[in-house]
Amino acid sequence: MSKNEMLQFIEEAFDENYELLRLEGGHSLSPHVKKLALEQVKNYWKKLHDLAENVTDTEVRLTLPQQKTPKGKSYTIQGVVDIVKEDDKVVLYDIKTHDVDFVRCNKKDYEGQLNIYAHIWESIRGQQLDATAILATGETESLRKAKRRADQANKPEILEEAMEEWNPEVPIELVSEEVEAYITAFGEVVDMIEDYQFAPPPVEKLKSKVQDNKTFAVHVCRNCDVRFSCESFKEYVFTSPSARKNFLDFYADYGTEHERVEIIEASLDEEEV
Ligand code: SF4
Repeated sequence: MSKNEMLQFIEEAFDENYELLRLEGGHSLSPHVKKLALEQVKNYWKKLHDLAENVTDTEVRLTLPQQKTPKGKSYTIQGVVDIVKEDDKVVLYDIKTHDVDFVRCNKKDYEGQLNIYAHIWESIRGQQLDATAILATGETESLRKAKRRADQANKPEILEEAMEEWNPEVPIELVSEEVEAYITAFGEVVDMIEDYQFAPPPVEKLKSKVQDNKTFAVHVCRNCDVRFSCESFKEYVFTSPSARKNFLDFYADYGTEHERVEIIEASLDEEEV
């Protein structure tokens, strides 16, 4: 299959899957968000088709049943991964829709999950893994900027260059001695969910840097639908000098100029449907 035929196939399969999920789950995407999702899938293939074509076990469901939380509640850990076996090496990949810059800056948050998956794979298959990695397919800031510049200048090569530089693979270290601790931490989260403890993180977390120079509040909260009713976010707004100066503007913060244009385009697209 040629590159164009494959991209055509991806578009058709994407539409078919979307329709199935929409009918099954009753949730729709705005045309703009659907377009972004399709772009993400196509970028994944364009960048990683060598790896994608070598996946030996795809969408492997890993299950660790009969776990007990510290408070004695039963639960099961389940995840879906891809496995590549090549040149006597076995690598476990977990595909995330997050952007790779965020994953790199917050690697710790992913280590537990991948180490647990690796532990399940090795116990069930009796096969040692050589490595694990996250494939972060989300659009990075650099890709977003390159896409905008490519559109404005009508020069697709700008985006192609950015795609060349984009590396969505983030290796995650396997530390088998830590697996027990990761599972315990997982159980603690299950206990909190079961006890309806959904408190947001303290404001210090919102002020902490998670990516480049961006704080958690800017990188995460700004995209959070419940920020207007979140106590931590409110506290952040009132303790941040620049935000306090003009809190109404801050509360109406819908992202960068580019993101605002995307929101407007999405709304216009919806109106046209
Ligand atoms: S605004 Fe959302 S993401 Fe930020 S702390 Fe509150 S609940 Fe969490």
